[in-house]
Amino acid sequence: MTPNTAHLRNVAIIAHVDHGKTSLVDKLMYQSGLYRSEELDRRAGGQHGLVMDTGDLERERGITILSKNCAVTYQASDGDTYRINLIDTPGHADFGGEVERVLTMADGALLVVDAFEGPMPQTRFVLQKALACGLRPLVVVNKVDRPDSRPDEVVSEVFDLLADLGADDEALDFQTVYASAKEGWAATSLDDDRQDMRALFEAIVEWVPPPRYADVEAPTQLLVTSIDYSDYVGRIAIGRVFGGALEARQRVAVIDRHGENTQQQILQLLSFQGLDRTETKRVEAGDLCAVVGLDPINIGDTIADAAQPEALPAVTVDEPTLHMT
Ligand code: GDP
Repeated sequence: MTPNTAHLRNVAIIAHVDHGKTSLVDKLMYQSGLYRSEELDRRAGGQHGLVMDTGDLERERGITILSKNCAVTYQASDGDTYRINLIDTPGHADFGGEVERVLTMADGALLVVDAFEGPMPQTRFVLQKALACGLRPLVVVNKVDRPDSRPDEVVSEVFDLLADLGADDEALDFQTVYASAKEGWAATSLDDDRQDMRALFEAIVEWVPPPRYADVEAPTQLLVTSIDYSDYVGRIAIGRVFGGALEARQRVAVIDRHGENTQQQILQLLSFQGLDRTETKRVEAGDLCAVVGLDPINIGDTIADAAQPEALPAVTVDEPTLHMT
């Protein structure tokens, strides 16, 4: 079930390759309480790989190619529990259109920048797209454990980059979190205690807005952002619910990019939990989910209300600015 949207955050993680996106998400997962702790892992004598970089191909190339989602739950200092959907964003320009598509699922961007290297070409590329999608960045200066790190300069380089990209005052007034994903801590000031990732969780809850476009009363609309395939269930559509809600066994209209629609029935709904997907009965506007049982279905299709089928605007490569009204 979707938590109340006030307790939901959809964050795209954007970074230049090697700046620590995978390590950071890995630590967030381990510390969210949902996942085995590293301590347990160590005690078990197990080696754990980085959870986000799983494909052999990715390991081979040393970059995160596939966009994946995972979710963590976090009990904030206000006592409330939040679900944070972490959306991995491909950093490479080669994957035309994919970055934009992935960014449509998010309401804020976690911009990870290496505390020594500072912003690099991919930082600029993805940040520009995030701004075009109306996402405000939360800046994580990572690797501050590096002896050669220069966090203060890097923060001003990020500011200059944002200004150069024409960011508005709100985006320029970004929150900075310093982190060492390697050591597993984050802090809002370099003088703070270096203990855990709490400061980053808190910053996400505070700085990333709750879902926009989340009218549960509206007709059902989900934009298909990626497709998975399983031998058992076939095609699995992944995306964000922009309006209304989806229910397991619901009859829906699947509208393709030519506007053709087919009436189909959802067999199963899955919501993200850690790296797993768990079956759920209902997913409401604002949340992300995986939908089983629909075929034909493709990236860019809309899963819509069977009685009032209306397509969401397609995300195209030529038009990086996505305005959804
Ligand atoms: P990604 O390409 O952005 O996903 O980056 P990775 O998480 O794979 O990290 C790239 C490299 O930087 C790896 O060798 C990590 O061990 C290293 N790394 C990541 N975070 C830190 C950190 O906080 N401090 C240091 N010193 N190294 C880090």
